Amino acid sequence: MRKKLIAGNWKMNKTVNETIRFFDNLLTNIDHSIISKVDIAVFPPFLDLYVALEKCKKIDIIIGAQNMYYKDEGAYTGEISPVMLKESGVNNVIIGHSERRCYFNDSDNVINEKVLSAISHNINPILCIGETEKERKDNKHFTVIERQIKRDLFNINSENIRNITIAYEPIWAIGTGKIATPDDADEMHKHIRHIIGEIYDNEVAENLRILYGGSVKPNNSKSLLERNNIDGALIGGASLKPDLFLEIIKSAIE
Ligand code: PEP
Repeated sequence: MRKKLIAGNWKMNKTVNETIRFFDNLLTNIDHSIISKVDIAVFPPFLDLYVALEKCKKIDIIIGAQNMYYKDEGAYTGEISPVMLKESGVNNVIIGHSERRCYFNDSDNVINEKVLSAISHNINPILCIGETEKERKDNKHFTVIERQIKRDLFNINSENIRNITIAYEPIWAIGTGKIATPDDADEMHKHIRHIIGEIYDNEVAENLRILYGGSVKPNNSKSLLERNNIDGALIGGASLKPDLFLEIIKSAIE
């Protein structure tokens, strides 16, 4: 049985004070017994990581980073290394979000370097993959996803794949209010599991957590999360409001 994971990607939102207020609200309103039933993660901007980790010291909520560079140190102005993350107590990182791919030119090659680097520092990546609207219209979505998986996970062995979560995030659904139907999302997750089974083996594929991301809100989360192949959600906009985030978390165990 794969335990569901509900993860919030805050993107470039929230100051330190807003982060403190978010966790004060969430931790007051969350029923702590929920934590044994569903995994919860929040990925704030780098500057907010310290207070987020402090706030979640006594509760099992994962705090992770939204990105990292693949080198340990050096002349890479503006970048954050896995060594820095690890020492700060960060053990999880989002890699390959479509906004990184589109706005900051993170290629599959760079993403693969980042995944390998994260793994070598014992940081668990959530690898994001997804097709554009045109690729889906042209019926290329299955091949695009297969290509991304093969490139992004190049040289990841069958031990290390166990520490990776995949997030299927169709680009046309991110921040647009458009959402993949539960049937379409489940079909793609099945496809991803099949590819992982071919590269590694069935046991690895069965244990792999695959999240859906793209306009998940409290009014659509249950219909996605109840599908067999959907093991959780990566949530942007709705993760910024503690009440909406909590409603989605609850819908994962209903
Ligand atoms: C995301 O940023 O990963 C995301 C899915 O955003 P949204 O939920 O706002 O579509």
